[in-house]
Amino acid sequence: QNLPSKKIKQIKIVFAGDAGVGKTCLMESYMGRDFQVNQVSTMGGDVQFVMKTMEKETVQFVLWDTAGQEKFDSFTKNYFRDAHGIILVYDITRESSFERAKKFHQTILEESQYNCAIILVGNKVDIKKKRVVDTVKAEDLAKAWDCSFFETSAKTGINVIQAFEKMFLEAYEVL
Ligand code: GDP
Ligand code: MG
Repeated sequence: QNLPSKKIKQIKIVFAGDAGVGKTCLMESYMGRDFQVNQVSTMGGDVQFVMKTMEKETVQFVLWDTAGQEKFDSFTKNYFRDAHGIILVYDITRESSFERAKKFHQTILEESQYNCAIILVGNKVDIKKKRVVDTVKAEDLAKAWDCSFFETSAKTGINVIQAFEKMFLEAYEVL
């Protein structure tokens, strides 16, 4: 039974990835869906709230988009510290963004205080002709990291819901 006084659990999910890989677009694409949504703009970037019923309780996912820190590599020391889940995005048409994802992964391991869930996302699959990051190579990396992997397009919406839903499930287990 749901007691109104019961405090709702919050689960923090943050985005990581090079500038221009499509983090904000992925968030927008996902939020375009039929969920209970609020939008708040803060100094630290955009924060979105998603309420979801997991097993027997309702929890609030707090999604943190970046505010452009990735352009200047000016993430604060503790950006990843209290995250339960991290959506690590690269652009399949830009090799350097894939290399940057590897660097982020290292930083996440160093900073995360939880054994946070990471989802590796190769975005922009709608631009097939410009692909440079091979699917199998990324899959292998995700396997080595023991994390889930999706190829998405924020433009067409392909796999966006699937990636977020997987993130929610895995981050919920971390809490
Ligand atoms: P961020 O810096 O990671 O937040 O990247 P943005 O979400 O701002 O996207 C950067 C650019 O990539 C924008 O011009 C978007 O229109 C474009 N973009 C983002 N996602 C996709 C995608 O899935 N496909 C294509 N073709 N373009 C995308
Ligand atoms: Mg952005």
